[in-house]
Amino acid sequence: MTISENLTEVQNRIDDSLRRAGRPPQAATLIAVSKTKPVSMILEAYRAGIRDFGENKVQELTEKREQLPSDIRWHMIGHLQRNKVKYLIGNVALIHGVDSLRLAEEISRESVKKSVETDILIEVNAAGEESKFGAAPEETPALVEAISRLPAVHIKGLMTIAPYTENPEENRKYFRALKQLSVDITRKNVDNVSMSVLSMGMTNDFGVAVEEGATYVRVGTGIFGLRSRGSAVTDGPADSE
Ligand SMILES: *Cc1c(COP(=O)(O)O)cnc(C)c1O
Repeated sequence: MTISENLTEVQNRIDDSLRRAGRPPQAATLIAVSKTKPVSMILEAYRAGIRDFGENKVQELTEKREQLPSDIRWHMIGHLQRNKVKYLIGNVALIHGVDSLRLAEEISRESVKKSVETDILIEVNAAGEESKFGAAPEETPALVEAISRLPAVHIKGLMTIAPYTENPEENRKYFRALKQLSVDITRKNVDNVSMSVLSMGMTNDFGVAVEEGATYVRVGTGIFGLRSRGSAVTDGPADSE
């Protein structure tokens, strides 16, 4: 299958899930996760109409960005180290993996310095996996409130990386819990906080994630094929400090 055929299939499955859940068409946007894949393959997806791309390393994202059309929205989906923030700010549409006040403070500081506003998502470790980054669900409301007071940074919603599984139904409870958490936080009406975005679902489970309310799904393998590095376990420290 070509990239364009894969995209059609993934998009059809997103549309089916939206319909099944009684959600409006286009309520979920596909992010094509292009990490480790060459610019030529990204261009193929771009020509097929994709404008949202996800990368998990700052250097790879900024290098690809320079070579590709400027209307692409780049999503930083990996764990972000504070010492890399300065290279990312101004080059990214949305940072998905913010899970500490210290990281948010660095994003805020760099954004002020560059006179830009930066949108972020709070990463939640919905399944409580020890190997994963992300704030504990019970700590998330307090973290959101603390980050909301920082200048030049805006929380747009929540993100989670569910456990790897062959059976997507096993992850439904985590997606449902993330949605519920976003509803709970919305009720608090925190200034400078929106909960309009839910980034959840990958190649193996994006259909279930869309049924449970995902507004972004992050699909790599299902579009570009298997990766030679950075396989299923994608949330570990990608670079050394
Ligand atoms: C790599 C990655 C994905 C895509 O994973 P696939 O299983 O290839 O679809 C999604 N989200 C994050 C955070 C990733 O690192």
